[in-house]
Amino acid sequence: MAGEPQSDCLFCKIVAGEVPATVVRKTERTLAFRDIAPKAPVHVLVIPHAHYPNAAELAAAEPALAGELLAEAGAVARDEGIEDYRLIFNTGAGAGQTVFHAHVHVLGGRHMTESMV
Ligand code: 5GP
Ligand code: ZN
Repeated sequence: MAGEPQSDCLFCKIVAGEVPATVVRKTERTLAFRDIAPKAPVHVLVIPHAHYPNAAELAAAEPALAGELLAEAGAVARDEGIEDYRLIFNTGAGAGQTVFHAHVHVLGGRHMTESMV
């Protein structure tokens, strides 16, 4: 069934508590935790508990949950005290996706350059 946990997925293991993470926010359906290799002073990943390989597949299957992910990303930024931030959804290995469980990067706390690459 769509959204079921995958035994070989790192972020499913973080949701299950099998791999530790520095959790900053948790809801019934989402989890936000600090990236292990931060690219900015604030670098938090927000994920659905449910497993979908990328953001578009999440949005296609469960649009309300995709909306919750964005709302939580905003709540992370508010909690961290940043008004300006960047949200990134890498999709596909060629775009830099390394973990194939939908997640949005919340990046901020420094000047974000205009570059999109
Ligand atoms: P992607 O490259 O797929 O868009 O993002 C995956 C992110 O997960 C990377 O920024 C990487 O640093 C982060 N990451 C990889 N392994 C772990 C881990 O075990 N714990 C945490 N907190 N982040 C991780
Ligand atoms: Zn997963």
